[in-house]
Amino acid sequence: MADVGLLVPAPLWGLVPWLTAAVVAVSGHRAGALNRRGAMAATLVGGCAMAGGVGPGALLVGWFVWTTGWSRAGRARKAARTGSVVAKGGARDAWQVAANGGVYALGVLVALGAPALAPMALVAATGALAAAGADTLATEVGTWWGGDPWSLRTRRRVATGTSGAVTPVGTAALGVSALVVAALAAALAVISWRALPAVVAGGVAGALADTVAGAWLQLRRWCPACDTATEQDPHDCGAATRVAGGWRWLDNDAVNLLATVVGAAVAWGVWGGR
Ligand SMILES: [Zn+2]
Repeated sequence: MADVGLLVPAPLWGLVPWLTAAVVAVSGHRAGALNRRGAMAATLVGGCAMAGGVGPGALLVGWFVWTTGWSRAGRARKAARTGSVVAKGGARDAWQVAANGGVYALGVLVALGAPALAPMALVAATGALAAAGADTLATEVGTWWGGDPWSLRTRRRVATGTSGAVTPVGTAALGVSALVVAALAAALAVISWRALPAVVAGGVAGALADTVAGAWLQLRRWCPACDTATEQDPHDCGAATRVAGGWRWLDNDAVNLLATVVGAAVAWGVWGGR
């Protein structure tokens, strides 16, 4: 912190992570990756991560750039393929930020508060982040290049963007992303290189849990006017949609949160049980 000390008086050093997080969040907002509340949530999540040091902070920023880049690449083609299916697109809101980054921020706080637990807590936190990234990549790359996906539940081809549907390309992207996030974490010394397989396992397991929950448990809606499945209400045709299955409270954000919890738990279990 010596270089920072030249710029900021010592009593204010505690503010540096939060100010840095705010700057990154506002940049994300300006770039259209976060809406206003999403930027506030990202400041909180990012502040926690950066309070954990340069490594955990840089890992979160790297993850954000990696996932946002893939979300934005090929946007026109993806929007054309999923326009009338998915409920949320474009800028991430506060719930999406909390669902994707909340477990990571919590893990870093545990590492800060209980140094004896820090190595385990950071492996679990990184597993959560790897899961969130793997899930995002599976969706984004699968939507872009994957063709029509298969529903795990019905074992039939379904519309692109349907929750719980998979493509071979998306599934490959899932594994690659888990590896990329784990390797970045190891390169930044957030985890040791020996913990890399545990974090990859957590990332893959979390993203697969997301897909399974999306297929069987997540709220499904049906547009009677278009005679098609959708997550929107009302549908983009203007008609009200009805519940067609799944749990009413289990929306996409809750499923993403579940993925990060599974990612953290599996990474923790694999690393702790080695
Ligand atoms: Zn419709």
